[in-house]
Amino acid sequence: SAALSVRNLTKQYANAGRRVLDDVSFDVPKGRVLVVVGPSGSGKSTLLRTIAGLEPIQGGEIALEGKVIETGKPGTEKAGRSARSSELRTHIGMVFQSYELFPNKTVLGNIMMAPLLVQKRDKAEVEREALELLGKVGLADRKDSWPHELSGGQRQRIAICRALILHPEVLLLDEITAALDPEMVREVLDVVIGLARAGQTMIIVTHEMRFARAVADEIILLEDGHIVEHSNDPERFFTE
Ligand code: ADP
Ligand code: ADP
Repeated sequence: SAALSVRNLTKQYANAGRRVLDDVSFDVPKGRVLVVVGPSGSGKSTLLRTIAGLEPIQGGEIALEGKVIETGKPGTEKAGRSARSSELRTHIGMVFQSYELFPNKTVLGNIMMAPLLVQKRDKAEVEREALELLGKVGLADRKDSWPHELSGGQRQRIAICRALILHPEVLLLDEITAALDPEMVREVLDVVIGLARAGQTMIIVTHEMRFARAVADEIILLEDGHIVEHSNDPERFFTE
């Protein structure tokens, strides 16, 4: 079955009449990369946030490896996060444009927090894996640094490590290079390209079109909360 399956998803915010996402359906097969593109305000970020369980949905359902983890309920527009359990949340990772690192924790503290608190894993084992991930993104020497001591590109690579240590079935990336100085974009995109090659299932929202074309197995074009195109031929999608 698909790693992730979204069926007839409908999303509304409180005090807004129209649906921000309307009857959105797609599957992401295991090990594949879906890129979501579309104009500003079309609902890309909202789509990722609903999949991550950061926003309740009002219709449809979201399933992870065939198991329904979220069912839409009308009247939940004002609720904060969805009702998903903390444990279930760890199965879908998300990285944000603005890093969202904890400023009062070191690099290692940021990466180790959720596996220790939510997954209750062994500390020595978590630390070993954190150091291994830091090595892979080229930041082993920054393990004791504080977020404010790091560049944007370094912070974003730490945010990726923090998501990966939970072994998410699906990783969501929301415009993760949009706040970076141009010289730092490449170091972050190279990490993502490595993850794609290693078979990490991902949904990526990005404006870096060359990168999107290189990394995508499938592309969805969102407009005004609707899927207007779903292509499994990135080469063709981006040259049309
Ligand atoms: P995109 O990521 O494609 O730019 P968004 O998902 O951020 O689109 O936004 C889609 C629509 O939802 C926009 O009209 C936006 O103004 C609206 N929106 C986003 N977040 C909220 C919110 N918290 N409350 C109300 N409306 C929102
Ligand atoms: P190459 O070095 O052959 O370009 P990579 O695997 O490093 O291969 O990159 C894959 C794709 O991602 C390439 O098409 C590359 O142009 C694109 N890419 C890499 N970095 C950036 C960037 N900073 N901005 C836009 N696209 C990028």
